[in-house]
Amino acid sequence: MTTRTTRGILDRLKSNNIVMGAEGYVFELERRGYIKAGPFVPEVVLDFPDAVKELHREFLRAGSEVMVALTYYAHREKLKDVGRENDLERMNRQAVRLANEIASEGDALVAGNICNTWAYDPNNATETAKIVRAMYEEQLGWAVEEGIDFVISETNDYLGEALIGLEVTKKLNLPAMVTLATVQDNQTRDGYDYIEACKILADHGADIVGLNCDRGPETMLPLIEKVRNAVSCYVAAQPVPYRTSAQNPTFESLEIANGQRAFPIALEQFLLNRFEMADFARRASNIGVNYIGVCCGGASHYVRAMAEALGRTAPASKYSPAMELHPMLGTQVEEKDKVFLQDWK
Ligand SMILES: [Zn+2]
Repeated sequence: MTTRTTRGILDRLKSNNIVMGAEGYVFELERRGYIKAGPFVPEVVLDFPDAVKELHREFLRAGSEVMVALTYYAHREKLKDVGRENDLERMNRQAVRLANEIASEGDALVAGNICNTWAYDPNNATETAKIVRAMYEEQLGWAVEEGIDFVISETNDYLGEALIGLEVTKKLNLPAMVTLATVQDNQTRDGYDYIEACKILADHGADIVGLNCDRGPETMLPLIEKVRNAVSCYVAAQPVPYRTSAQNPTFESLEIANGQRAFPIALEQFLLNRFEMADFARRASNIGVNYIGVCCGGASHYVRAMAEALGRTAPASKYSPAMELHPMLGTQVEEKDKVFLQDWK
């Protein structure tokens, strides 16, 4: 087990009020050719560990304070889909080891990661809860042995399932961050208003509650503001960097030409730029969000812009834009170029 000397997540939140996170590992490694879209199982952890380490390192250099172990969908149900259930333990342990290895290159924390299992059924809650609990217990049991600082339970579609993850985390005496998916308009798939669900999670001892994935900043921020007003614990927001709107509130609902679905692998035309994600970080901070990051679609240039928007200097800030040195833009400043030349930090 790794013994860390850095301060834990709760200490950091208490003294700095904001912790920077970064996710979107599965999407980014799929784009790079290391994960198969469809099942989205992180086989890359065993097959190309250097690719995982490189992405951790990019996020670390960009200012993320948390290396999230790539155990998203590394659970029994999903591994069955790709015929790798025998690799379950090896994959989970290795993911936490890789996160630790890179976290130690900086002052970063390691988060164990569990997510929606697709095994939970609110109509058969007693039976399916047992299956889900066993899956979380084995994943987090291995993670604790390899060394984690806290647990992120994320993209929870059901409050019932989120509460199981929270309970398993608390039994391990670890700080718990629990975030909900928001695919539906107002409520979880088991019928709880998103705000109410966050409040229930907080009442059950979650240290950090909030939302991740599915929504871009425009459609996540109004919800997260309500969460902020409803709970007294820390709040997390990790949106996708896509241009969602009132009409298309989630990235699952975005459409390319002819009404075809853009999700999950034809989303490029909806990507936000780094300035827009920097703006998200500022707005989230103003609302009082404490854990600020990015989810699917995320990449290190966003994370650096967000960290700098929050007044931070990341290792990768050494190479932040200096457009005044650009051979064309730097000498002939036109009105339309000012966005690149302003001091947007
Ligand atoms: Zn996501």
